[in-house]
Amino acid sequence: KTFEDCGFSSQIMSAIKKQAYEKPTTIQCQALPVVLSGRDVIGIAKTGSGKTAAFVLPMIVHIMDQPELRREEGPIGVICAPTRELAHQIYLEAKKFSKAYGLRVSAVYGGMGNHEQFRELKAGCEIVVATPGRLIDMLKMKALTMMRASYLVLDEAHRMFDLGFEPQVRSIVGQIRPDRQTLLFSATMPWKVEKLAREILSDPIGVIV
Ligand code: AMP
Repeated sequence: KTFEDCGFSSQIMSAIKKQAYEKPTTIQCQALPVVLSGRDVIGIAKTGSGKTAAFVLPMIVHIMDQPELRREEGPIGVICAPTRELAHQIYLEAKKFSKAYGLRVSAVYGGMGNHEQFRELKAGCEIVVATPGRLIDMLKMKALTMMRASYLVLDEAHRMFDLGFEPQVRSIVGQIRPDRQTLLFSATMPWKVEKLAREILSDPIGVIV
């Protein structure tokens, strides 16, 4: 199976070619067609499996497919990760792929002062990569609105729970329209994560690597 089989536009294909990814990883093979079809996904996969591209590439397609959203404010794609390190890795990957489309990616995690962060978000973005606590802070400060967000990724959900971010994650999900596309990835599926998944995903497809 090749990336060509996934039905990407020629623009996305050239973005992939720039990364020198020859062929999709197992999770990419399984998840890309499902995510591209607009379905919710519950994925059991670890870091290193190539899952970041499996949710970032369809996110770009999702954003580019909805030019009418451009008239509104706030991110269209929202990605939450448990730690600053992981969020930063995702941010770099999201930036690499979205550069060619002129999409703005904001990193919402420690590393920048609150005021600087506030200003950056106020300037606008299409994609936010965030740790849950910091994103909640920024939402409380009204640095951004979730009004047009319609693609939500929760990455390493088990670690978000281990770190006690369940209330923040639930609050974020609650601020995003229910007809969004939601993807939840976790290395393990403890009862609490499964319960959240049942509550926030609609008719999800399971992908296990
Ligand atoms: P991830 O599991 O998303 O953190 O990705 C792990 C690493 O694999 C990252 O450095 C990616 O850039 C790289 N990667 C992702 N997809 C592919 C692919 N199809 N071929 C080669 N490398 C990849």
